[in-house]
Amino acid sequence: MSEPADAAARRDVKPVICYPVETLPCPDMALYQGARRTAQKTGEIIVPPREARCFSVPAGHFFRIVSVEGPQVGDLNLHNAQDVTERFYSGKTRALHGTHITTGQRMWSSFPTLRPMATVTQDTLGWYGIDGYGGSVHDVIGTRCDPYTHALLSDGGQYHHCCHSNLTRALADHLGISRAEAEPLVHDVLNVFMCTGFTRDTGQYFMKASPVRPGDYIEFFAEIDLLGNLSACPGGDCSTVHSSDEAACYPLLVEIYAPAEGALKDWQPPAANVYDRSHGI
Ligand SMILES: [Zn+2]
Repeated sequence: MSEPADAAARRDVKPVICYPVETLPCPDMALYQGARRTAQKTGEIIVPPREARCFSVPAGHFFRIVSVEGPQVGDLNLHNAQDVTERFYSGKTRALHGTHITTGQRMWSSFPTLRPMATVTQDTLGWYGIDGYGGSVHDVIGTRCDPYTHALLSDGGQYHHCCHSNLTRALADHLGISRAEAEPLVHDVLNVFMCTGFTRDTGQYFMKASPVRPGDYIEFFAEIDLLGNLSACPGGDCSTVHSSDEAACYPLLVEIYAPAEGALKDWQPPAANVYDRSHGI
């Protein structure tokens, strides 16, 4: 098809932001930071390479994902600990905050609750910004590496340590349910420490070596009681390949911190979304 005569004019139309966030309820970062200064570590868990582990974080506590031993990307699922069908909604988080999240931005939950599950309170990779390729860190644009896409792209290849399978096994073990029951609860992730973007010429999803180094961390405030599930991706730092045992992989550390009694003053977990759910009927 040839271009219409006004093709250039149509392309020149200025974009508008889909979801201006001026009216989005803001986290009280000063309150969180004050509470964090009083916090004591209450537990930690090591996620082994090419595996996933679940962890619990009560509402009002903090959790920190730390790079240890070597550069490593993590695939993070979040569930409401009381109702695991309420889970992280990566697509809406992307629509609200953009392709990558950092300090002050939030992980939002699925419909019908659509509320903040966690707020990023510290990010030692916040300095990275957006690089010359359009890449940035902690993305909500990827999904999670999975054995189905791998089979599709590798003529039926079977690989069992993709993040999707790791998250499925860990959730099944934690909840005491079968893998078949756990699998549909696994959802698209926050790609912690992963450096990604879309190519400008073809619009394809790309990854590049993560800038994370041992000691780097991202820390979150739990807005509700959370069940976290974190996979140490078989892609390692995601500089070359994933969905195989070829990349160098390292563990990830998760630490939980509890603020002092009263440090959160009268803070309460956010209520479920107020839409009446009648859908016009
Ligand atoms: Zn992965």
